[in-house]
Amino acid sequence: MKTSRDPYAWIERSLATIHQANWYRSVKSLHGRPGAVVNLAGRSVINFASNDYLGLAGDDRLIQAAINATQKYGTGSTGSRLLSGNRDLHGELEMAIAQLKQTEAALVFSSGYLANLGTITALVGKRDLILSDQYNHSSLKNGARLSQAQVVDYTHNNLVDLTSKLQQHRPQSRRCLIITDSVFSMDGDLCQLPKLLNLAAKYNSMLLIDEAHATGVLGATGAGCVEHFHCTGEQLIQIGTLSKALGSLGGYVTGSTTLINYLKNRAPSWIYTTGLSPADTAAALAAIKIIQQEPERRSRLWRNVNLLKQLLAEVNLLASESPILCIELENIPQALNLANKLINAGIFAPAIRPPTVPTSRIRISLMATHEPEHLEKLAAVINS
Ligand SMILES: *Cc1c(COP(=O)(O)O)cnc(C)c1O
Repeated sequence: MKTSRDPYAWIERSLATIHQANWYRSVKSLHGRPGAVVNLAGRSVINFASNDYLGLAGDDRLIQAAINATQKYGTGSTGSRLLSGNRDLHGELEMAIAQLKQTEAALVFSSGYLANLGTITALVGKRDLILSDQYNHSSLKNGARLSQAQVVDYTHNNLVDLTSKLQQHRPQSRRCLIITDSVFSMDGDLCQLPKLLNLAAKYNSMLLIDEAHATGVLGATGAGCVEHFHCTGEQLIQIGTLSKALGSLGGYVTGSTTLINYLKNRAPSWIYTTGLSPADTAAALAAIKIIQQEPERRSRLWRNVNLLKQLLAEVNLLASESPILCIELENIPQALNLANKLINAGIFAPAIRPPTVPTSRIRISLMATHEPEHLEKLAAVINS
């Protein structure tokens, strides 16, 4: 019998709504190796859209480390870490992360997203409370939701609001976890770590910070926001990714040995997934060595940040203390227009718009490998 009902028809209608709101997005392909200049759909463009802050994703040493590890261990880890998927390389990488962060131990996940999901769900549950910055990354927000704890958002970087919400909700909860990005990924500003540590101590709460955009970028040795604020050695939970300044793929958690041993037994997104591939693991390990041995990469990155801020002195930039600089625009069409103007001039700097962020903007990520001429060309188009 024929029926007119189609249980999938709503998908097309939903997509039409997304189009109407100007929210529709699709992928673009970059060709060749990543870098400050890339080939986008057959055209050479200056790249301001990459998280590869130190220019390591196309570095020959990382590539060679990945090739060597693949030849030695094969392409896949073949199982979860607790069964057949563990290799010496994973332990070496975890030791290198713990040494960089000056923590007791670290644990590598298949991505930063999975590190947040697994860690947050392992640490809190139904009787507990999560306080979450409203601008946190999707992985923190979804980790919080998945944990089944009570989730209370506080106004972005507003510690008066956080304090009042701690006062209101903390007494009724068993455990409490405060979660925040350290560098806010779509704005470029920093969390107020020293004050957050004080508040966490005062309200008997755990603090988890996501160093995804800070590792390799901030701090004298590239250890991140914790080092930048001279909070090294303080008790807290640090999450990060191997896929931004470290140029590879994967995520990590770092903190006390007790925390890491607990997560190995309680974090489902670590226990029930395949160990990180040998190639990704070896590339990340090579990257950590390079960021420790070549601090000049970080110096060049910050030289570029300061130069671009000077060149854009007349432009409405969001407050930033990172290599992420955002030009604020009034609406989606304005942001798409400027992104178009830039791409026509051979500059790749994407429009970031609702629903990803509350207000439209052009988001510029700087790299150590940008030349001053790249920044001058960008500024010339924006200032014209
Ligand atoms: C990119 C990012 C992640 C996700 O890391 P992946 O390794 O790409 O999954 C998590 N948190 C923040 C703040 C990020 O910017």
